[in-house]
Amino acid sequence: DPQLNANYTFENYIEGDCNRLARSAGYAVAAKPGGTSFNPLMIYGGVGLGKTHLAQAIGNEIKRSMPDKLVIYVSCEKFCQQFVDSLKNNTINDFVNFYQAMDVIIMDDVHNFAGKEKTQDIFFHIFNHLHQSGKQVILTSDKAPKDLAGLEERLLSRFKWGLSADLQIPDLETRIAILRKKMYADGIELPGEVVEYVAHNIDNNVRELEGAMVSLLAQATLNKKEIDLALAKQMLKNFIKNTSKEISMEYIQKLVCEYFEVPVDMVKSQTRKREIVQARQISMYLSKSHTKSSLKTIGAFFGGRDHSTVIYACQTVEDLIDTDKKFKAYVHDIQKKLKMS
Ligand code: ADP
Ligand code: MG
Repeated sequence: DPQLNANYTFENYIEGDCNRLARSAGYAVAAKPGGTSFNPLMIYGGVGLGKTHLAQAIGNEIKRSMPDKLVIYVSCEKFCQQFVDSLKNNTINDFVNFYQAMDVIIMDDVHNFAGKEKTQDIFFHIFNHLHQSGKQVILTSDKAPKDLAGLEERLLSRFKWGLSADLQIPDLETRIAILRKKMYADGIELPGEVVEYVAHNIDNNVRELEGAMVSLLAQATLNKKEIDLALAKQMLKNFIKNTSKEISMEYIQKLVCEYFEVPVDMVKSQTRKREIVQARQISMYLSKSHTKSSLKTIGAFFGGRDHSTVIYACQTVEDLIDTDKKFKAYVHDIQKKLKMS
């Protein structure tokens, strides 16, 4: 199928907390198209988070294990265009018959149906036909069905029949794994600190993450240059906004909480759970050493505490750094990450 891109497979789709449900639902659908309750399977999430890749991976997997199945991948935009053309050329029946003959339809970016009532009507009929015949429908969208504006209610209600699974921004570990995979695919290895720098700083979108890696790899190959951290920073200036931004308490809080895997809002709460207290005290300590904020401001930021609490936190952290090797390593690790920003 020319519409399926063979590069998008499950094999090279890195699994993480960000995509676990969507990925395993996709896998189940690929093993039994039309034969699970995930029909339709709706994969949703923001730009560049891997919707097209995952949807295509399902199609490729079905083609691989069941070559006789008719699988069509079509973007919603292209479908709309084809519909308009078929109206013009008087070939609506052919258009409808073509899609109704499929075993699996993958429609990408269905939010683009917004405002296109006639195309939605046609798709509604195709959808019903396929669904009633036990055929598989796979959809992607930038929003959950309940938040899709501009789509007809009856079509939306169909979209809610099966399973909607979202894709989130990958966490740091998953971002590093995605970059590693890309490097190995290209047969080039960049220094670990460069990979970490990229993964730390591009944290909103997998496509941009890959784009940064592609340009580093290109530089390494074409100019036969060693890419060290300094060169990487230099090259990625345009990818990474605010390279020399001031470190904020908010950022420290985010980094510390990510590091210790505690919910961000908890450090501002009143809880005395050990790991939260530790994250709070380290955040205060780093805020004192890495920002220009006063003790009073720091205390206020971390849950309305007073300056003596901040002094106590800093003392506690300093004592622990002196006496507890593991603790010292934690703090250094976080400081290293802070300096990478
Ligand atoms: P979307 O359709 O959501 O905008 P894409 O599917 O086009 O995003 O993904 C953007 C890029 O990121 C693609 O090159 C894709 O291969 C890659 N990508 C996204 N998620 C992953 C992942 N979990 N593992 C590996 N590559 C990924
Ligand atoms: Mg896409």
